Amino acid sequence: MRLKGKVSLITGAGSGIGRATALLFAREGALVVAADRDAQQAEKTQKLIEQEGGQCEAKCIDVSQEEQVAAVIATVVKTWGQLDVLCNNAGISLLKPVTTTTEAEWDKVFNVNLKGVFFGCKHAIPQMAKQGNGAIVNTASELAIVAQPLYGAYCATKAGVLALTRVLALEWAAKGIQINAVCPGPIATPMLQAEFDLADDPINEEKLAIKSIPAGRLGTPEDIAKVALFLASEDAQFVHGAAIVADGGKTIF
Ligand code: NAP
Repeated sequence: MRLKGKVSLITGAGSGIGRATALLFAREGALVVAADRDAQQAEKTQKLIEQEGGQCEAKCIDVSQEEQVAAVIATVVKTWGQLDVLCNNAGISLLKPVTTTTEAEWDKVFNVNLKGVFFGCKHAIPQMAKQGNGAIVNTASELAIVAQPLYGAYCATKAGVLALTRVLALEWAAKGIQINAVCPGPIATPMLQAEFDLADDPINEEKLAIKSIPAGRLGTPEDIAKVALFLASEDAQFVHGAAIVADGGKTIF
């Protein structure tokens, strides 16, 4: 029960890594606010948690809209009096050469992946500072650190998430706020499957991805949820501005 009595807000909690994180946090005693732009999927996460005896409330928000992010954080604080953990996890991918990426496509991926993290931090930090404690876990990517063809806009957003994480960690460490990032490698989620499905031979694409991972398998959403749990917990009290890579060794070489 490493998050007993904690109030947590997780974005992108209707699928993949966000849902696994929501389930794990609830098992560890947290009250979970599961936010996603897909209301039905967020409600499904709520049901899954309630079936296990946990506490969850689903919220439908688009993280790229500042007023929606601000409103959900204000509601959490008004309802439960505190916000202990924020996981800025919602994200989208774009596989396209930069030379044919439109301005609208570029803006869309930045608005969700980077501006969404900015809005979450901007509105959660004042409350955490008032409390004198809090933890923010931003989902970046191994692609914040290494390059991959066709991921120009995506890599740029995730590198931005790491830079923002470090600056905020520096600014707020003295106020007792832990701000860190997790950098997942290829994780078996609907997002990754959709990327495989873009290839002529999706099954072969998945085999190639697995070949690039020393651990010999794709990650599971739970692999990343466990890292997020560590960063959200008091075990990580002295961890500030870190980028924990969980990629089965893919970026070792
Ligand atoms: P996922 O299964 O697609 O889940 C992401 C969730 O976020 C979806 O429910 C999605 O809704 C939601 N979402 C998207 N845009 C949103 C917005 N503007 N506001 C609120 N919710 C929004 O993806 P995942 O693989 O779990 O990815 C989670 C995070 O991990 C992302 O930040 C991703 O970049 C990062 N990541 C993933 C991998 C990987 O291999 N899977 C690797 C490195 C990093 P829709 O379904 O409607 O889009």
